[in-house]
Amino acid sequence: MNYKNIIEKVFLDTNNFPDKGIMPNYIPELANVDPAMFGVHLTTLNGENCGIGANLEKFSIQSIAKVFSLTLAYKILGEEIWKRLDVEPSGTKFDSLLLLEINNGIPRNPFVNSGAIVICDILISNLDNPKEEFLEFIRDLSDLPDLNYSDKIADSEKANGYRNVALCNFIKSFGNIKNDPTEVLDFYFDLCSLEMSCQQLSYTFTYLANGGKKITNNHKMISPSQSKRINALMLTCGFYDESGEFAFKVGLPGKSGVGGGIVAVYPNNYAIAVWSPRLNPHGNSFLGMKFLEEFTTHSELTIF
Ligand code: GLU
Repeated sequence: MNYKNIIEKVFLDTNNFPDKGIMPNYIPELANVDPAMFGVHLTTLNGENCGIGANLEKFSIQSIAKVFSLTLAYKILGEEIWKRLDVEPSGTKFDSLLLLEINNGIPRNPFVNSGAIVICDILISNLDNPKEEFLEFIRDLSDLPDLNYSDKIADSEKANGYRNVALCNFIKSFGNIKNDPTEVLDFYFDLCSLEMSCQQLSYTFTYLANGGKKITNNHKMISPSQSKRINALMLTCGFYDESGEFAFKVGLPGKSGVGGGIVAVYPNNYAIAVWSPRLNPHGNSFLGMKFLEEFTTHSELTIF
């Protein structure tokens, strides 16, 4: 498959779209990014690389990091983890409080904000130095020893994170947050503040295309079954109330972030990352969604 030709063609076609979405405004720091940024990078399991546009530019990966925190928590707790969270699509916005009342504080899945906040709580309960140990885990997974949280982005979100504060306290009222909500939220905001480029993301996500093993040294990060399940959750829940649409149009497991990044995984083949900061009404990258739809249409390769 000549991925390079397809990526170049689809990149140009997508970039010519008249409507490109709007910049997020509820995390002020995210609005300071150049709206015209657009990058794509694909990494195959045999180490082939193909990138275009702003593929080397770092951006705020936001909720894409929820895949990493789930990976570490799942590795530590195993199947026990599902006592604290469900594995069902929410059909609601990423920061919705709606279903928590009906479900007694059990989030619908690990990728809506409520679920990711419970995952942070789990990591705090199970690690001596959660922030540092989590960072070490991703540094190892990504082979990026300098990867760090961004204080600027975390502080910007913290100053405006009213809904996340509400979510954490609401879940605490049901007993499904075990630690101090301030500490849990502090970790959550740091998690969302990580910055990576499309090239770094596509490389890092290859473990999910490779049955849970890193492609460079075959080191097992999680089991093949856990890798399958994380992919299944990305397919059904990775795009909040647009998850069905992504599965329908792209046909791959993926995860978006409000910083405009999207990562998609084609098991046994590749991981691909796209970044364009302007968002559609569901909070997912407008051009990112379009690009991946066209990319799988032209490559004719999907999990279906
Ligand atoms: N940090 C963001 C929030 O909690 C993440 C949302 C997203 O990336 O979709 O609102």
